[in-house]
Amino acid sequence: MSEPAPPLVLLVEDEPQMRRFLRVVLEGSGHRFLEAATAQEGLTLAASHRPHLILLDLGLPDMDGLELAKRLREWYTAPIIVLSARGQERDKIGALDAGADDYLTKPFSTGELLARIRVALRHEQKSEGGEAPLFTLGRWRVDLAKRQVHVGGEEVHLTPLEYKLFTTLIRHAGKVVTHQQLLREVWGGVPGAQPLYLRVYMTQLRHKLEENPSRPRYLQTEPGVGYRLRTEE
Ligand code: CA
Repeated sequence: MSEPAPPLVLLVEDEPQMRRFLRVVLEGSGHRFLEAATAQEGLTLAASHRPHLILLDLGLPDMDGLELAKRLREWYTAPIIVLSARGQERDKIGALDAGADDYLTKPFSTGELLARIRVALRHEQKSEGGEAPLFTLGRWRVDLAKRQVHVGGEEVHLTPLEYKLFTTLIRHAGKVVTHQQLLREVWGGVPGAQPLYLRVYMTQLRHKLEENPSRPRYLQTEPGVGYRLRTEE
């Protein structure tokens, strides 16, 4: 029987000193370690290496760390632990709302960091890291890291809300997603958001993605309940 590979941790952090320090700590405690100095590099490495866990600094030069957490959460399901010097309550809530699993305020002790990593990885044991950032179904090909949607080889432009609705259905592919769940996940609980919005956006999506929008093959209505992305042919 072969030993399981040590967990791979990706650090996204612009301070070289912090990167050096965390490399020593993590490699010294039996992790494999990857580092990125910018959000863009972090996205690329996350998609290409599928780390088991991401440590994410909130103050990055090219993108707010909260925004990066949101972008990652469109397809990355393994734990994200946010590192921040700000230490303010609203950053903490913002990070968790953006999809982070945990939060550490700098300066933190190595013992505290390693304990948080252990807990996060324990919760994630059954996963092999993030899901594939590529979703394919019939003639559709969705690159979740690049946010590109192709139908039969042609790129299709979706508005941000259409894209969010589509990727929410992809995340729950095969399962019924209720109106409430979609309104919550896509519109973020904006007051006044209602099933009518969903109907409008779903119609647009079908026109852009389905061969026969009036008889959708994949984007199915579950009357009175919600919608389902059908995955079986
Ligand atoms: Ca920073």
